[in-house]
Amino acid sequence: MTYAGKTMGTTYSVTIVDPLSSLSRETTLAATDQILDRINLSMSTYRPDSELSKFNQNQTTQWVPISADLYEVMKEALRVSRLSGGAFDISVAPLVDLWGFGPSSREDTIPSDADVQARLKLTGYTHLYLQENPRAMRKDLPSLSVDLSAIAKGYAVDQVVSYLDSLNLSDYLVEIGGELRAKGNNAQGHPWNVAIEQPNSKVRTVHRVVHLENQAVATSGDYRNFFERGGVKFSHTINPNTGRPITHNLTSVTVIAESCMKADALATAFLVLGPEAGYALARREQVASLFISTNDDGYLERATPAIQAHLGTGKETA
Ligand code: ADP
Ligand code: MG
Repeated sequence: MTYAGKTMGTTYSVTIVDPLSSLSRETTLAATDQILDRINLSMSTYRPDSELSKFNQNQTTQWVPISADLYEVMKEALRVSRLSGGAFDISVAPLVDLWGFGPSSREDTIPSDADVQARLKLTGYTHLYLQENPRAMRKDLPSLSVDLSAIAKGYAVDQVVSYLDSLNLSDYLVEIGGELRAKGNNAQGHPWNVAIEQPNSKVRTVHRVVHLENQAVATSGDYRNFFERGGVKFSHTINPNTGRPITHNLTSVTVIAESCMKADALATAFLVLGPEAGYALARREQVASLFISTNDDGYLERATPAIQAHLGTGKETA
């Protein structure tokens, strides 16, 4: 059974191998939409009424009670921020907006140095604090604004997975906007194969195939969401140190991990860190990852030892 829908400004799809056809498509689809709506109502920055938008608008530096969903995502986001030395930073929203990639309309203009410096002062994940009991968060910079776009899709995949597990399903694939998590086997009885795209903005071709066994895979790239000015590409991924879009030639990072939330956040973190520092961290942390950079001859690929077992020859079909 396969069903699909829209969420988080993108599409989702769920494939369940259900030989006995025991599930009702309507019920499963409705339950999935309900989970996704719940997460959007908690952490969408495109909805002014979400829990997170209210926290962002609220200028208080006092503790604010938060939902279990928001707590889980904040906890992992701050963990990855520390692990990456601040390359992953969920407070870069003012810069994402300044460069035209935020919820407000897109200008495609290059901001001035002064504007970048001014906005940098409004950011920094170290201004955020999280408390478990009772669940709450606070900021010590009144205007600080949190953007979970780089991790929320992964979390949503994990939540749909939990729901499918609660139905005792053993073979499925869940995907939201290209972030995926698989369990068991496909309809042919083989482990799920997932295609990693060639990092090319013009055509969608398969670059590699990865095998998943009860894992998630997420890819971050600069090849889909960007604008060009004077032959220079400006990506939606911001380097929190400079306040500017990343400039190196690393064009996509794919991460395989046990949770999709972790894979999603790490893929973004490694992409920000770049081909050297990102790869070094992925290796040190033994994270299964594939780094694709562009050079004059085309693509240059670097895979950490931990992802080798998941890689196909590149000739297989998904
Ligand atoms: P995608 O949305 O294409 O899957 P990502 O998961 O990498 O890609 O998330 C990119 C989004 O994350 C950006 O659109 C922006 O909202 C936000 N973002 C940009 N730079 C950073 C950063 N350094 N750390 C965390 N989030 C970021
Ligand atoms: Mg991400």
